[in-house]
Amino acid sequence: MTSAEFVKIRKAELLVLGRAVSIVVETGNPARLARANAVKVVPGSLQEGTEGAISAVCESTTEPGTVYAVLIHPVDRGRIRKVSCSCHDHVRHNWACKHVLAVAKEFVNRGRREWSLLTQLEGVY
Ligand SMILES: [Zn+2]
Repeated sequence: MTSAEFVKIRKAELLVLGRAVSIVVETGNPARLARANAVKVVPGSLQEGTEGAISAVCESTTEPGTVYAVLIHPVDRGRIRKVSCSCHDHVRHNWACKHVLAVAKEFVNRGRREWSLLTQLEGVY
């Protein structure tokens, strides 16, 4: 694969993932979205799996030393159909908790940065 092909494929992946994850953020409960700003995603923990799942670890905002595992499941027909988090809020209510929303927001921001880097790289060819 040439570098130009890699950039093209990666941009296509980012577009699909970015759109689907943005929907998770846009449909998030507004109060929970505001609380998500206080959530710290553990640096370096945000990862994209080979199957298109996104995982990360978040620190608890109320219990120091406690962390939660967040999983955003792969895109299915343009949407993220399932999200999960090991916190009580998610386990009890099965909704997109503030940790899921924090990870989704961070992923979208990171994707935008990567997109602009890839776009700059395209200009080099
Ligand atoms: Zn949670």
